[in-house]
Amino acid sequence: MTKKTRRPGPKAGRVAKPLRRSATAGRPAARARRKYVYFFGGGKADGDRTMKDLLGGKGSGLAEMTNAGLPVPPGFTISTDACTLYYREGGKVPASVDAEMTDNLRKLEKAAGARLGDVGNPLLVSVRSGAKFSMPGMMDTILNLGLNDETVEGLKRRTNNGRFAFDSYRRFIQMYGSVVLEIPKDAFERVFEAVKEETGAHLDTHLDEPALRDVVARYKEVVRAKTGRAFPQDPLAQLRGARDAVFRSWNNARAIEYRRIYEIPDSIGTAVNVQMMVFGNTGERSATGVGFTRNPANGAKEFYGEFLVNAQGEDVVAGIRTPQPISELEQVMPQAYRELRRITSRLEKHYKDVQDFEFTIQDDRLFMLQTRNGKRTGYAAVVIATDFVAEKLITPKEAVLQVDPESVSQLLAPVFDPKAWNALPVTTKGLPASPGAASGQVVFTADHAVEWTRQGRKVILVRKETVPDDIHGMFVAQGVLTATGGMTSHAAVVGRQMGKPSVVGAGALEISEASRTLRVDGRTVKEGEYLSFDGLTGEVKLGEVATRPSEILQVIAGEMKPAGSDIYQRFERLLAWADRFRRLGIRANADQPDQAETAYAFGARGIGLCRTEHMFFGEGRIPIVQRMILAEDEGERRRALNELLPLQRADFHGVFKAMHGTPVTIRTIDPPLHEFLPKREDLMVEIATLEAKGESGAGLEEKRRLLRRVEQLHEFNPMLGHRGVRLGITYPEITEMQTRAIIEAACELAKEGTKVVPEIMIPLVGHVKELRDQKAVVDRVAAEVMKEQGVKVKYLVGTMIEVPRGAITADEIATEAQFFSFGTNDLTQLAFGFSRDDIGKFLGAYQDKKILDRDPFATIDTVGVGELVETGVRKGRAARPDLKIGICGEHGGDPSSIHFFAKAGLDYVSASPYRIPVARLAAAQAALQVKVGD
Ligand code: PEP
Ligand code: MG
Repeated sequence: MTKKTRRPGPKAGRVAKPLRRSATAGRPAARARRKYVYFFGGGKADGDRTMKDLLGGKGSGLAEMTNAGLPVPPGFTISTDACTLYYREGGKVPASVDAEMTDNLRKLEKAAGARLGDVGNPLLVSVRSGAKFSMPGMMDTILNLGLNDETVEGLKRRTNNGRFAFDSYRRFIQMYGSVVLEIPKDAFERVFEAVKEETGAHLDTHLDEPALRDVVARYKEVVRAKTGRAFPQDPLAQLRGARDAVFRSWNNARAIEYRRIYEIPDSIGTAVNVQMMVFGNTGERSATGVGFTRNPANGAKEFYGEFLVNAQGEDVVAGIRTPQPISELEQVMPQAYRELRRITSRLEKHYKDVQDFEFTIQDDRLFMLQTRNGKRTGYAAVVIATDFVAEKLITPKEAVLQVDPESVSQLLAPVFDPKAWNALPVTTKGLPASPGAASGQVVFTADHAVEWTRQGRKVILVRKETVPDDIHGMFVAQGVLTATGGMTSHAAVVGRQMGKPSVVGAGALEISEASRTLRVDGRTVKEGEYLSFDGLTGEVKLGEVATRPSEILQVIAGEMKPAGSDIYQRFERLLAWADRFRRLGIRANADQPDQAETAYAFGARGIGLCRTEHMFFGEGRIPIVQRMILAEDEGERRRALNELLPLQRADFHGVFKAMHGTPVTIRTIDPPLHEFLPKREDLMVEIATLEAKGESGAGLEEKRRLLRRVEQLHEFNPMLGHRGVRLGITYPEITEMQTRAIIEAACELAKEGTKVVPEIMIPLVGHVKELRDQKAVVDRVAAEVMKEQGVKVKYLVGTMIEVPRGAITADEIATEAQFFSFGTNDLTQLAFGFSRDDIGKFLGAYQDKKILDRDPFATIDTVGVGELVETGVRKGRAARPDLKIGICGEHGGDPSSIHFFAKAGLDYVSASPYRIPVARLAAAQAALQVKVGD
């Protein structure tokens, strides 16, 4: 899928301008009146939690915590509107906004009791991105801003800690150099490693003040060499540079890729948070950490997170040092720990959601740096939502709104077959960052992950640590394994969010990207060898291990009792709550009794689409179907159809039974007939081979006949050719046989005491007369069968609306049709004129050029195809007010499309069996009028 692959992103700052809502922005007079900078500090903030659009998630969280009287270092947020302006003005912040920023800087200096650039008492600030939706690690951050050759000495005097002051300065030059001045990171890293080697320091913390002074001097040389200028010494110029770089980082390649994957609009822009620095690296009484109020991997009610003593924030998330579990903070700094527990549980209650927080302890004093609703795995989402209801923190309605519908599909992901898994020794163990079983061939780079996946291989991405640039590889891999980093490292956070099995910090792995090998447990594993791991336990094994269905699927399949599975019970509870709120019916696209059973067990109450032609592919049936197609005359064709009749009848009987009397929509044959015949080229080879062997006789003659028929059936545009209703019109005996099989099965069930109401659906109708023709056939045969059987069954005849003309003339069609089902796959194909089988060739380019945001075959194009749906509904119901209307294209299982169908007034959506849980939850959210993903 192109969606999952990487395309080079445009250069920072030169792309897609966020354009949006603010109608007044850009007009100088209006601009002057608008507020672009929001202060927080001293127990009061200009913003609050409701202002995520404007302040971003981080900014609104800081404002809310400040208002709640929590210990938050003061600062200000430059709004997302300013980002829009920045792009609109061609990469410049207007002077009025800049002036507003400097006004707020004065306010901040007052609140902090220190001044930017003041040698005696320098204020240092952090400059961080913060969009409405969290995009971990995708955009830029700069710490320790305000340091220069003079203030660093001031900081040394004030803290009495020269090592700390120069360590802060070298970090600042490094960050500013790479983010703002765009100097490659390794230019700094090489210098740093060289100084470490020269001084014999093993760890960064072993470098003393003189060594760090040396690092600073050499870093400044790097800056001069790479940019031709000295490192900027004016703190206000530093601030402007950092602010603009953060705005630019909204459009770096990885942020664009991230937004594409998570369908975050490009137009919303990021805010910039400027905040007084507090330091977790002033010594052994200082620390920095991140955490969650519940376990984000499995949902357990436990205080969860990590910290590092004497470190700066980025050290924890970067995964460079492996941090300590947060429970150990209780021993190290008991008072700060207790306060942190108190504050974070208050935040959880306040937000009624799991909080993901960042904190710093400076000389035993706790500061909160961030709080936001925590991302979690699908598994954790269900556990947490059901726990919250049990704890009376939220209502069932809120629980339904809290869980992302897409995430429940993660609960259906496979697990290892325990026998096969236990047969292999544990090679090593890492931290269980994101649950799920992963098995595949090892690759060491994200690009290889993408390349190999394209070739149809399953891969495990193995990295020392992942960086935001790896996102495309993580997306396609079966799982992600890293050697360093904690439970909140990049790999862990992103892995959980993607629902990708992940194990991190498997310290025993020695990874050499250069030689594409890893060494572990005395063995060398080359790229391409198999490796497996369990994201719930952290165990890693060499070799391939078969996977098997998740607990929920085992319960669904009757292999496990519901009472034996806690997660199944929670899953069912949540979905039962969803059913209380949804108005859309949920049906399944299923063609076989076993699929129908699965769908029913997942909560589908009806079949929205049974593609009868799939039944033709059943064992032993193809030769009969081929005989039907090859028939020289109607008589011969009918003989073949008579052979198919009992087989189809048995299929329908099975599907009806599995659905326990709920409605079953059966579609008459749809695809072009050549799909049931061998390929022309294959036949030609077979014939040539037989001829070369000198064979003759019936076998060869049969093949030649088949070839002639294949050539006769050849079409230039099969999708627009002899298919759908057109087949029934030219070969009414096919419709007759299928109707007979359906009604006979319904009569049999009626005799057994089960009432079924079959819905016979004619595909690809664009003209009312097509439907009239086929309906006459159906009604005639149904009447004959009921007479023969001496039983009366109710049935409906309807049509798919999948040809634009069908939607436009829905009022005419509804005079014949008792129901409609939108076939949005074909409707999209025919509305756009995009082949549903070939769009992959150009969709990527369309998305790169922003012609299309999303794949219209995955998420309904509401403007064009959606308009056809709305027209079909309006006109159809005008002609027949009780017209039953559903949708059975792939969009029926897509949450944001479901939202649209609910608004369009459909009666039901039909989705593939495994999407049923997603559809139930999405339909409930749609009914509660919440935009999915909002
Ligand atoms: C459709 O076109 O949306 C549909 C459900 O039919 P099919 O995918 O079988 O063409
Ligand atoms: Mg179709």
